[in-house]
Amino acid sequence: MHSLRELYKIGRGPSSSHTMGPERAAHDFLGRCPQAARFRAVLFGSLAHTGKGHLTDVAILSVLGEERTEVVFDKTAKELPHPNTMSFYGLDERGNVLMERTYLSVGGGVIRAVGEEEGARKEVYPFHNFSEIKAYCEQEGIGLDEAAYRFEDGEFRDFLREVWDTMRSTVEQGLRETGELPGGLHVVRKAKTLSVRQPNESPEEREKREICSYAFATAEENASCGLIVTAPTCGASGVLPAVLYHLQKKYHLSENAVLGALAAAGMVGNVVKHNASVSGAEAGCQAEIGTATCMAAAAVCRLYGYSLEETEYAAEIALEHQLGLTCDPVGGLVQIPCIERNAVAAMRALDAAELAHVLHGTRKISFDTIVKTMYETGKDLSERYRETSEGGLAVHYGC
Ligand code: SF4
Repeated sequence: MHSLRELYKIGRGPSSSHTMGPERAAHDFLGRCPQAARFRAVLFGSLAHTGKGHLTDVAILSVLGEERTEVVFDKTAKELPHPNTMSFYGLDERGNVLMERTYLSVGGGVIRAVGEEEGARKEVYPFHNFSEIKAYCEQEGIGLDEAAYRFEDGEFRDFLREVWDTMRSTVEQGLRETGELPGGLHVVRKAKTLSVRQPNESPEEREKREICSYAFATAEENASCGLIVTAPTCGASGVLPAVLYHLQKKYHLSENAVLGALAAAGMVGNVVKHNASVSGAEAGCQAEIGTATCMAAAAVCRLYGYSLEETEYAAEIALEHQLGLTCDPVGGLVQIPCIERNAVAAMRALDAAELAHVLHGTRKISFDTIVKTMYETGKDLSERYRETSEGGLAVHYGC
């Protein structure tokens, strides 16, 4: 498995696969073909269908230059190597092709070049699934976070600190903002409204409202191209920060505790990324929000001091009950249903941890099994429900 540095990426929204990935691909291509007079970028599959709403063209033009780059949205190509495929061409003055390179944006901002060995990226963990991680932790008598610290490099805690600082300031920034989100849907920001105390609300109602406000804050920042951390993606970036921000505030947790929770959550997310997908274009929203929910559930377990067994159960519950969750963003924007979904998922993560704690010892399904099931379910989903905005809410909105 790769480093958690590849899971948690700090960058601008609204989409890890549709803006961060293409932006990285454009940087890579520019570095390889700096002599080109002009560029052409051709987007296929989900990138072609929802690239406009996700600002894919804006991300590419910001790197290659608006005046010398043409971005083409090809919605007709079939049998692509990946739902998020894009080809870059470097051209001379006469339009002759100097270089061509095809990239896949595989989710969470990670890109791969077609024809290049995947092994070029260094694996830092000797594990292949959750059961191997769990067996190692049990044998060593350590938690998931300690396992991460053992295999990552010496600056890993500093990296996690930067991740947490960014998550926290994104929540706080989102709570301050008001007005409409960009994109033309006239979606009004709601984080600040949600942060206001309601008359006669119970402590439980207050807690839930606040958790939702934190999730909305990050998701709204993401939708307006603000700075976020992929956890595991931009679209699902509000879930984990909402849970961590809430628990940190409620229990005055130390920074170390929060960093440990981030590490534990990362280990769980990494299993999904390694064995399935965190890309909505590949496996639907269950891969994005579903993964974010099980990461957040693992973080809660770490902060509550729950056992490894309880953590596995919580992560499994969190993902199991999002199986089949479709990706159908209205207008190709990461707003409806995405923003609200982050808030609902944050509450689910807390519930999953509690349920696993109470039902400790009765688990029948392993986390690895549910990850495999999620991936297969995602592959079976019609393409209309995999970030193409050709089905579901994206079609029925406004009807
Ligand atoms: S519906 Fe889910 S997977 Fe699709 S763009 Fe929104 S958050 Fe991402």
